Amino acid sequence: MSPAPAIEVKGLRKSYGAFEAVRGVDLVVPVGGVFALLGPNGAGKTTTVEILEGYRSRSAGEVEVLGIDPAEGGTALRSRIGIVLQECAIDPYLTVREVLAQRAAYYPAPRPVSEVVGLVGLDAEVRKRVKVLSGGQQRRLDLALALVGDPELIFLDEPTTGFDPGARRAAWEVISSLGALGKTILLTTHYMDEAQHLADSVAVLSAGRVVALGPPGSLGGRDRAAHQVRFSLPGPLGAQLPQLDPPARRGDREGEVLVMTTNPTATLHALTGWALGRGVELEGLEVTRPTLEDVYLELTADPDPVGAPRAAAAGATSRGPAGSGRAVRIPRRPRR
Ligand code: ATP
Repeated sequence: MSPAPAIEVKGLRKSYGAFEAVRGVDLVVPVGGVFALLGPNGAGKTTTVEILEGYRSRSAGEVEVLGIDPAEGGTALRSRIGIVLQECAIDPYLTVREVLAQRAAYYPAPRPVSEVVGLVGLDAEVRKRVKVLSGGQQRRLDLALALVGDPELIFLDEPTTGFDPGARRAAWEVISSLGALGKTILLTTHYMDEAQHLADSVAVLSAGRVVALGPPGSLGGRDRAAHQVRFSLPGPLGAQLPQLDPPARRGDREGEVLVMTTNPTATLHALTGWALGRGVELEGLEVTRPTLEDVYLELTADPDPVGAPRAAAAGATSRGPAGSGRAVRIPRRPRR
């Protein structure tokens, strides 16, 4: 028998008055590792996560978090989960140590405060009042607050917004190590590189529905999509290129050549053989595949997709301009 998942959601729905923000979401998040919830502004991520955390009621569907219905979980569930909010109300006059010690007191077996500040790189700030922390340091404190209880399941809502590149990498290491320790992380993020780097699995929400589900490397058929070979040539040489199937075409930039191929080894062999024979340099030669961001933009371009998740879709298809139909960003409401 397979072990019980950390989170199981069936047919989840949530309406705000006449507006249905979550429209029949099914999710299974296994124990251990990082599961990312992606989606444009207004897709229903926060609503879904807040229902899982027990902060919001649902209109329909079944939800189990660590085997408990969060609507009835109370402190039994809260003591087993950690939460990082985009913005949360912390007493700005307390010091970093005091805030963490206060939070630790809610948990049965917390981590030592000194260990947690070390993990998130706040050792030097431990005596500072929260109000003097920089934006990035406050986000690190949010992460520390989620870790101090040593919970089994951690909800991270855009945990690295405002971090400098070094701090982001450090936070990624902390998050990865938590996943490796068997903790379950439910990550909400708008950074595709973050999801690509951290997540074992991602679900893309759009207009309240799951439109794709799977590992970031194969989402939307990424692993089967054609490679793009790009390089630049001085003007007239383009016409002399070897015959390729499909043929080379003009790229986006002046003098750029683009070849779409499902057989990059043979394509590169033909092109580099041709170039070496003529003593020509294929300038800026690169071989790429659609990134997670490319696939994500395709999947979320349609504001109200109908039908089942497109987990098995073979390659991206063009369905209108990426970014159309996005909802306006709603400022997060402080909850504590
Ligand atoms: P973002 O990426 O901007 O944080 P999100 O995916 O988290 O977006 P939600 O905050 O879950 O989206 O919102 C989903 C939809 O539900 C939005 O259209 C939002 O306006 C609406 N909504 C959220 N909370 C409420 C509320 N309390 N009352 C009415 N509508 C709400």
